[in-house]
Amino acid sequence: MGNQPTITILGTGYVGLTTAALTAAAGMKTYLIDPNPTRLESVRAGKSFFYEAGLDSLVADGVANGRIIPTPVYAEAVLQSDIVISAVGTPDNPDGSSNLNYVFAAASEAAQYLKPDAVYVQKSTVPVGTGNKIRQLFMNAGQNRAYVSNPEFLREGTALADSLWFDRIVVGGTDANALAKVMQLYKDIESNRTAIAGLAGLSAPANYQSGAYISVALESAELIKVTANAFLALKISFANSIALLADQTGADILEVMDGVGADKRIGRAFLNAGRGYGGGCFPKDVSGLIAAGLEHDVSLEIMEAAQAVNEGMPGYIIEKLQDALGGSLEHTEVAVLGLAFKAGTSDIRRSPGMHIANLLTQAGSAVRVFDPKAGQEAAGQLDERVAIAESIEQAIHDAGAIVVATDWPEFVEYTPQAYAAQLQGGIFVDAMNVFNAQAFSAAGIHYIGIGRSGNSKEHAVL
Ligand code: NAD
Repeated sequence: MGNQPTITILGTGYVGLTTAALTAAAGMKTYLIDPNPTRLESVRAGKSFFYEAGLDSLVADGVANGRIIPTPVYAEAVLQSDIVISAVGTPDNPDGSSNLNYVFAAASEAAQYLKPDAVYVQKSTVPVGTGNKIRQLFMNAGQNRAYVSNPEFLREGTALADSLWFDRIVVGGTDANALAKVMQLYKDIESNRTAIAGLAGLSAPANYQSGAYISVALESAELIKVTANAFLALKISFANSIALLADQTGADILEVMDGVGADKRIGRAFLNAGRGYGGGCFPKDVSGLIAAGLEHDVSLEIMEAAQAVNEGMPGYIIEKLQDALGGSLEHTEVAVLGLAFKAGTSDIRRSPGMHIANLLTQAGSAVRVFDPKAGQEAAGQLDERVAIAESIEQAIHDAGAIVVATDWPEFVEYTPQAYAAQLQGGIFVDAMNVFNAQAFSAAGIHYIGIGRSGNSKEHAVL
């Protein structure tokens, strides 16, 4: 481990902290920079500021053995570092384009301290063409430094597992030596995988096959990241479009997509209808891609359509509930289970569950919400009339309707009988399409799925 590079990571967010935990666990001295004192304080105390399986153990270990060094000071960290990784946020502007203020600010500040042979790595999701602008920025600062695009593919909720048992590592750039150094960083993590996984309490996914190392042009690497997310978003919106047709025709979307996905050319993944995608990535990556297209006179109408379908799903689900209630949501007690944008995380950015809870409140329902991890983060962003419950039971007791908006295991494993005992004959909206419709009907509950109006045969088991 003696020859390992010293790393600086710019941005202690979901991506930055996860990356730091891994480089440190693989033996690399890792500086972690952020202007946000609360996030640094949390790391200093050996804890992640968000929930992610296994992360606290790695952060605690890295801080205790001195390999993770949180600091707000660029000079202290960058001057010492062989590899500087930018993982700052890239939110969207009001017009949907990517806000690159943090990306350029981080690059400008780092440029003052980069060692001559340092490699600057871009892990933030940026529009194609950004890398060349940063190379120019370095040159203007009199610092001609190696630049590598290295997009991040981890998913919140399974961030460490995704990084340890990756599908692919993508690097893009022109400097072969710099590309090799970045590849080596990941090979070091990979060769320490068993020990790191043990410390984090994680185990390998079934049937894992080695991931690929892919080295491409800078612009290609930048475009791979957003294209991958855009395609996944497209699959979800496609499934939702077909689900609307299934609702009108008696087909069951699960049966449809099982049949469609059995075609190996298509595959089953991400063809799941429901309340649509959310989170800190898909919505902004889709709008960022559309904006990048417009900048180059390329119309990505296909993505505009995906976006429109997605934005319509929470309203569509609420309409279904309203119809089932006889036309009005007013004065109905509705429990919304799930505020995190997906299971396994406390992240509520652009969360459909949050949106559904707020929309229902605005429509006059009395809304109670519960999420096993996201309740605290959600508090400030929910309509103030929404009540935050401390348990499933507290949320659903005597409710007229339940909407499950995140597929947390505790919701999925809660039995129809247990729901029925609290609901007393009410309506159950399965906005994730993960429950067994027949089992709910058998328990005396009016089940509503998305695109599941049909007489499902395959799923009629329990
Ligand atoms: P985040 O908002 O959680 O974290 C970004 C951090 O950067 C914040 O803590 C912020 O204070 C810090 N920051 C801002 N300006 C800075 C500066 N000049 N120097 C140092 N730190 C600075 O964001 P995130 O979710 O970790 O995402 C980071 C990037 O990775 C984004 O481009 C995102 O699109 C991409 N990405 C995210 C995920 C994910 O699942 N969250 C997955 C793949 C890619």
